[in-house]
Amino acid sequence: MNVPLLIKKKRDGQALESSEIHDFVELYTRGEIPDYQASALLMAIYFNGLNRAETSSLTEAMMHSGTVVDLSEFTQAKVDKHSTGGVGDKTSLVVAPAAVAGGLMVPMISGRGLGHTGGTLDKLESIPGFRTSLSLEEFRRTLAACGMALIGQTEELAPADRKLYSLRDVTATVESIPLISASIMSKKLAEGIDGLVLDVKSGSGAFMKTAERSRELAARMVEIGQAAGKRVCALITAMDQPLGQAVGNALEVKECLEVLKGRGPADLADLCRELTAEMFVLGGVESSPAAARARFDAVIASGKALEAFARVIERQGGDPRVVEDDGHLPAARHRESFPAWQAGYLNSMDAELTGRASMALGAGRERLDSLIDPAVGLVFEKKVGDAVKPGDCICRLEFNDAGSLPVARRLLKQAIQIAPQPPGAQPVLLGREPA
Ligand code: URA
Repeated sequence: MNVPLLIKKKRDGQALESSEIHDFVELYTRGEIPDYQASALLMAIYFNGLNRAETSSLTEAMMHSGTVVDLSEFTQAKVDKHSTGGVGDKTSLVVAPAAVAGGLMVPMISGRGLGHTGGTLDKLESIPGFRTSLSLEEFRRTLAACGMALIGQTEELAPADRKLYSLRDVTATVESIPLISASIMSKKLAEGIDGLVLDVKSGSGAFMKTAERSRELAARMVEIGQAAGKRVCALITAMDQPLGQAVGNALEVKECLEVLKGRGPADLADLCRELTAEMFVLGGVESSPAAARARFDAVIASGKALEAFARVIERQGGDPRVVEDDGHLPAARHRESFPAWQAGYLNSMDAELTGRASMALGAGRERLDSLIDPAVGLVFEKKVGDAVKPGDCICRLEFNDAGSLPVARRLLKQAIQIAPQPPGAQPVLLGREPA
């Protein structure tokens, strides 16, 4: 393959042939195309985009770069949920057990947090003993035993995406709609699902900063999934402030346990209900959104969702006592308040900056191999729209290293605006694809 000619073609705005895309992905995955040429092609794609046919070819080539799991031996509908990533974005830990308790199978393959965004695997691993790196065989056995498995991307699954994503991360080519679409959908289509609910985040803490770009990403991913014969829909949801109150791994697990017990912050509980209801409809266990929401409420009220979570925790090596007593989760040694400095209303709370403040305390990682502290993070006692008086605690910092405080406080001060007037309504649900 003549790689410089391929790069030139995309640089000059021409469409690539399906066979060219397939060859490129295959050779790059085998190490026969160097990173510098792949980087140049990614940047050309970043600027000139990919049309629908090219994006489908890229998704297919990446999906077939490894194993495509066959779960047809299981009779339940297999439905997953995937978020494009945000701050305090912890819905998977509620949605997966609630969906299983409501009759679905959930083969969930998640990622780690990177930069200001959190990752499901880090949250789960804050539960003492919980193992997320299962082989595909263990994945299958866990699915059979628990109706769900919560694992990380294995070596066998879409290896082209793993390589390309690492390269995009260091070449400023992540925020491209066709590249994100192909990356996410190649992994999801490889995991053996019948249906997929996408949570496309929009706002200051998301890859897509505007509702228009988020809608475009949602539409592209739904189209790819449907073309592959899967039932797919997307909710476009706000990521202008952290979701729920907690940001940080064990703190987020604690908050999810609250939602599973019928408590917890309303924005988080409502979004979990909407996402799970979409899964019930896609999986065919309910035919109307109202009945699907009622099914979610029923599995929470009966405790069946919490039991499903306890089962998978135990099966994957975690300490199931956390379910009844969150004192078994790691806790930070120190707490301090971040107080309001004037009276008024919380007008905005930049989600990316709050994510970076939590990272500064040690909850997140700069690079995929950085170590994180599972105990630390932030708990927001006030959210956008709340009234505050000077000295009121807006946010609690939970930390182990006092040296991390000045940076976290500086970022929080930058993130939070207090205004004399309350802001407008802050809906979490911004749209749906298809509408
Ligand atoms: N998540 C992914 O898996 N891939 C992307 O490109 C962006 C977010």
